[in-house]
Amino acid sequence: MKRFKKASIAIIAAMVIISGCSGSDDSNVNDAEGSNDGSSSNGKVTLHFMTQSSPLAPADPNEKLIFKRLEEKTGIHIDWQNYTWDQFAEKRNLAIASGELPDAIFDAALSDYDLLKLAKEGTIIPVEDLIEQHMPNFKQVLEQAPEYRAMITAPDGHIYSFPWIEELGSGKESIHSVDDFPWINVEWLDKLGLKMPTTTEELKQVLIAFKTQDPNGNGKADEIPMSFISNSGGEDVKFLFGSFGLGDNWDHTIVTNEGKVVFAPADNGYKEGVKYLHDLFKEGLIDIEAFEQDWNTYLAKGKENRYGLYFTWDKANVTGMNDTYDLMPALEGPDGHKNVARTNGMGFDRGRMVITEANEKLETTAKWIDSLYEPLQSVQNNWGTYGDEKQQNIFELDEANNMLKHLPLDGTPPWELRQKTFVGGPLAILDEYYGTVTTKPDDAAWRLDLMKK
Ligand code: CA
Repeated sequence: MKRFKKASIAIIAAMVIISGCSGSDDSNVNDAEGSNDGSSSNGKVTLHFMTQSSPLAPADPNEKLIFKRLEEKTGIHIDWQNYTWDQFAEKRNLAIASGELPDAIFDAALSDYDLLKLAKEGTIIPVEDLIEQHMPNFKQVLEQAPEYRAMITAPDGHIYSFPWIEELGSGKESIHSVDDFPWINVEWLDKLGLKMPTTTEELKQVLIAFKTQDPNGNGKADEIPMSFISNSGGEDVKFLFGSFGLGDNWDHTIVTNEGKVVFAPADNGYKEGVKYLHDLFKEGLIDIEAFEQDWNTYLAKGKENRYGLYFTWDKANVTGMNDTYDLMPALEGPDGHKNVARTNGMGFDRGRMVITEANEKLETTAKWIDSLYEPLQSVQNNWGTYGDEKQQNIFELDEANNMLKHLPLDGTPPWELRQKTFVGGPLAILDEYYGTVTTKPDDAAWRLDLMKK
């Protein structure tokens, strides 16, 4: 899910206008039966949606078991225009700029700015009446957790998008509170007879030892004492800045315990953090690629266990679920200061799906989207499904209790498995679903425990 959030941050608000560009697909051509929401000859209504997915997932989303079952259940066929994550934002913006609109955009990754701009232009339509008339599952969610209604309502009183809601813990113990975890190579610490660092100065000495004392024992100075992906949320180095002041997060906006909003780089401690980083850089302790590398480059070196210290949401996704790395606690700075900055993120993405002005089958579209908010469906869309004979399953279905139970991951990186099978999109998982609709994912329970400690 984090990938989508990141994608939305990265989207450039300006629309790219390329004159003479023609759409590659007849995505705004609806079925020819002439009446709204009518059935086509095979008994199914077809809707044209644009979306994005992982390069690891099937190019046609309809090959995913979740969508196969959904088509059977709803009698609605989706004709997808699917792009991989890296291409999606550009293709979406092109479609909008050229007027070659799909009926709806699924996993739309639209920022608040985008939503308001597209709404003002009339490119996306208000949906509150559709919710009222055709969306009992979503209405149920809004009744159970009414705060979300306010969160999806624009300043003009309309609702323009369908949200993604994932509750996992709440307040400071919400799993989204801290995305940026530092993972340290404890095998190297043991090998060199070093203790887990507790201060920024101790960390510097540990990193120097990683660099100079050949902890992997191959006779070469091939260790990378510290790596990160600069300004990349969970992979960012600025977890360390909390030792000097408030710290930082992905949108560089910190809310203090007193409720004051601070622009992170304007905090005095931020400058001290930069100085500390500069010092580590001068000592040659920072991966030379840290300021420009992409996820795959980061991952490749991680899989070879070349890092002494690195940052990410969950180590299982980079270095595997083994005992080589452990969470490094927050460090004390030179004056004993220690803070962990919270993100402003929560399990909420406002602009997860929008309906465009080109859509002539609004009722069908609303019914299809509403089916995603059915609790058992939401859980699968978010994490993956059960009963897939072709690949590893995230769940088994406990039919007696109508409940999804997480299967052991058996060492498979959770994010990798989910990318292949989950569909994302608008959905809702409320805290009260755990234990009734689904079990809590093992990796999430483990991470929540680490965060609490
Ligand atoms: Ca070495």
